[in-house]
Amino acid sequence: LLSLQKVRKSFGDNVVLRDVSLDVAEGECVVLIGSSGSGKSTLLRCINLLERVDDGVIRLDGEDITDPRVDADATRARIGIVFQSYNLFPHLSVLDNVMLAPVRVHGIDREVARADAKLMLERVGLADKANAHPDALSGGQQQRVAIARALVNKPLLMLLDEVTSALDPELVGEVLDLLKDLKSEGMTMVLNTHEMGFARRVADTVCFLDGGGIHEQGSPEAVLGSPAQERTRQFLRRLH
Ligand code: ATP
Ligand code: MG
Repeated sequence: LLSLQKVRKSFGDNVVLRDVSLDVAEGECVVLIGSSGSGKSTLLRCINLLERVDDGVIRLDGEDITDPRVDADATRARIGIVFQSYNLFPHLSVLDNVMLAPVRVHGIDREVARADAKLMLERVGLADKANAHPDALSGGQQQRVAIARALVNKPLLMLLDEVTSALDPELVGEVLDLLKDLKSEGMTMVLNTHEMGFARRVADTVCFLDGGGIHEQGSPEAVLGSPAQERTRQFLRRLH
């Protein structure tokens, strides 16, 4: 569904992604791990065209989305992205947050969008919070609203950048359960995390990003359990 070939991205002299190639199959959940600054967020931002790659090709559903002639807004509309900080609009109700993009960006009729948004809130277990404001919700609930807001646009692919990092440990489980449900429904996901327990439970494939590339890639059991590369072992040791 998604394929990256020799993706390169620098900020000035800082070469962040030197040579990243990655294939993500439909329904696959790929988890990126790596030290702070290794380029995990940058990679997700490149896939979503929030950053332009310097070189290389990214294909989504067969289309080269790095081609400058491709409509970036139309591409972004097919990709859901969720951040650590939720980025909900504090002055809008939960329901209005979820309805906003369908109405404003996709031009969907308000009543249709409202019905879709309600279904999606039910889907993430927050139907009873539709009229609440985000600040009345727990962190885990706010993150589930942010995920609902991305899902309501029926994305081909979901990108999730450290979606559990801001959460108290006891709230991580509810977001993890939601992601596992999405996966069992066939959603394709690329996410990054610093929590190896989380990675192990949700990933089909784990990629260790180091030195501007994917240094090691494989099943969670292989990469996290018995890594082949010394640098991966070092990274995992430092977490303990
Ligand atoms: P963390 O685990 O801390 O979130 P990360 O793996 O997500 O780290 P990135 O945020 O992708 O790392 O950053 C990779 C490198 O790119 C860092 O050196 C960072 O300073 C640099 N960088 C990221 N975004 C920009 C930007 N907009 N302008 C300049 N440099 C940037
Ligand atoms: Mg990051």
